[in-house]
Amino acid sequence: MLFDKPDAEPDNIASVLVPVAVPGAYTYLVPPGEQVQPGTIVRVPLGTREVVGAVWDIEPDVAINPKKLKTITHIYKDARPLDANLRRFVDWVANWTLGAPGMVLRMVLRSEEALLPEAPVPGVRRIEGAEPDRMTSARQRVLATMEDGLAWTKSGLSHAAGVSGSVIDGLLHQGVLEVVSLPAALPTPPPDIDFARTNLNPAQRRAADQLIAAFDEGGSISLVDGVTGSGKTEVYFEAIAEAMRRGKQALILLPEIALTEQFLRRFEKRFGVYPAEWHSEITPKKRGRVWRGAASGDVRVVIGARSALFLPFVDLGLIIVDEEHDAAFKQDDRVPYSARDMAVVRGHISKFPVILASATPSVESRVNADLGRYRHLVLPERATGAAMPELHAIDMRHEGPERGHWIAPRLLEAIKGAYGDGAQTLLFLNRRGYAPLTLCRTCGHRFQCGHCSAWLVEHRFQKRLVCHHCGHFEKVPESCPSCGTVDSLVACGPGVERIAEEVCSKFPEARVLVLSSDLPGGPDRLRREMKIVEEGGADIVIGTQLVAKGHNFPKMRVVGVIDADLGLANGDPRAAEKTFQLLGQVTGRAGRVTGGGLGFLQTYSPDHPVISALLSSNMDDFYTAEIAARRAAGLPPFGRLAAVIVSGPDKVFADGYVRSLSRAAPRVQAVTILGPAEAALAMVRGRYRFRLLAIAPRQFDLQGYMQHWLDCGPKPTKGLRVQIDIDPQHF
Ligand code: ADP
Ligand code: ZN
Repeated sequence: MLFDKPDAEPDNIASVLVPVAVPGAYTYLVPPGEQVQPGTIVRVPLGTREVVGAVWDIEPDVAINPKKLKTITHIYKDARPLDANLRRFVDWVANWTLGAPGMVLRMVLRSEEALLPEAPVPGVRRIEGAEPDRMTSARQRVLATMEDGLAWTKSGLSHAAGVSGSVIDGLLHQGVLEVVSLPAALPTPPPDIDFARTNLNPAQRRAADQLIAAFDEGGSISLVDGVTGSGKTEVYFEAIAEAMRRGKQALILLPEIALTEQFLRRFEKRFGVYPAEWHSEITPKKRGRVWRGAASGDVRVVIGARSALFLPFVDLGLIIVDEEHDAAFKQDDRVPYSARDMAVVRGHISKFPVILASATPSVESRVNADLGRYRHLVLPERATGAAMPELHAIDMRHEGPERGHWIAPRLLEAIKGAYGDGAQTLLFLNRRGYAPLTLCRTCGHRFQCGHCSAWLVEHRFQKRLVCHHCGHFEKVPESCPSCGTVDSLVACGPGVERIAEEVCSKFPEARVLVLSSDLPGGPDRLRREMKIVEEGGADIVIGTQLVAKGHNFPKMRVVGVIDADLGLANGDPRAAEKTFQLLGQVTGRAGRVTGGGLGFLQTYSPDHPVISALLSSNMDDFYTAEIAARRAAGLPPFGRLAAVIVSGPDKVFADGYVRSLSRAAPRVQAVTILGPAEAALAMVRGRYRFRLLAIAPRQFDLQGYMQHWLDCGPKPTKGLRVQIDIDPQHF
């Protein structure tokens, strides 16, 4: 029996997820004669432009007149379709964060360039048996270089043979060489798992064996909880080796780009090759290669920032999140997600092991380990046998420095001792610039950012006042803009530049280095300087939190924390945990290899529980107390939080909106709503910000509640923006 061919058969349409903030996928016609499958990457018309998206469903259940549908304009046949697990992951992240799935997909499809094969480059090859009519020594060198029959680029060949390009041209002309196409980038060689094995100590061996055993369990999670310098990296390298043995790819997430340099070298020492890098600083071309290599399997190991979690690995079998407690794993804008938590999800979906590593685990991970949800692997001692640093509090009320100075005499003595012995000192202050506040001595005028509720910070090296929130800067004026008095401005309090000034005046001969993310020269300079410190090319280093993370500085003996109270003052319930982690990490830089490390905490409250926990170096006491306090208050991980941030250019209007949104909150016994209140930073880039906070028990479906609230609440208008942050870092 014959049927009339309908206008569009069901398999002629596909739903395509597009990288925009809409709730779901859109339906398109598949071009005649073409085929797509779920995950196929395509280009489609969207409004007046075209965007790259991915087929999400090939038999979408839609009641749309096919005549009204637009057609897929391009199918990326060279790009591997996104596999089912990756698509599930995208949907999962969208559901969890209440973000648009298209915005999550956008983190996968970073650039169209990555989807196209790299253009081949011209090369030359020797034609077998062909001889030049006249042999010269230059020609001989070329032919000898090409003996193995492999193809070369022209420039590579002239370099290797030590001849000019015209010699090669002559051989081409004579038909001895021929032009060929070379693949643009040769696949990265796979890690050699036997290249240089480390002799693990017994505690490391036990931990490594358990990580290896985890591969047979499907998706389990391990917390490698080892003191600073305990050799966690060597331990999880063994897990990477196991992933390689099983033919799987591995991903290592690090919180800070500045860490990658040292990490790459360590990896190379163990496995004989460099892993692929993925972060915001790599060139688009390299990015494309890593993306395609992850998808094709040519790239076996990627080390990257949190966004590497969304690479389309063909056969991922292990994720490691190093420094898992670090707040940098949380993305705050667009789709607010925690790369640590989502790494656990990706492992769960694809049933492979995930390793979290830290010397100061997050309270969340500690609780999961205590409850047996995560395997808890403890490394109690330093791998080199070096003792942990000896920590001292310097009570600034009684033994602080004279007025206008910031380094106490006892700390100065220790620096002097280290310097005399050729050892290094690290002075830590989590404040960029010269001084956090500048004011007029005559009228009291304070310099504030016009776009943010923040003081301008003096950067003396650059002769500027800078806003750390929006980047606004102005020249430091000669007179007060308010009362006109000349030379009346005073800097209040220290930043790293001011500490450097004091150090230089006390140790004029010493090599002093400031490590701060905002100094001119960018990440390249930072990487160079990190290396200088590592190799002992600086005596006294002054740094912001950048230097606290994971670095291995073998000659570092003394660590001085200029203001140990700095993070404790704010009202954030995570303040204790964050300060404990930061100071634990910073002081952990001391004496890592040789021992004899000394740490000094300058504080006005030496009896504060965080300070005393650090001094006694009894980590468990701190966690026990902190976990009990969280449990009592119903705070994470015993309760769940979601923040609503409302922002808008008009303060009164935004305020009115957030109040009506608050009134529209569905009344449910389990949920407590706090606020509205001004956000911690009440204005950023000219937008006023208000915040609501929902607190619910752990088992409660908070996402469902939040979605329902937004659906039935008033709609934002007039430039208002509403952003949901599930599991916010700050509250
Ligand atoms: P962590 O990441 O736990 O802070 P690292 O992995 O950076 O510690 O190791 C600290 C130092 O100890 C490094 O210099 C490392 O090379 C060294 N190390 C690690 N394991 C061993 C070992 N088994 N034997 C000797 N040295 C080791
Ligand atoms: Zn600003």
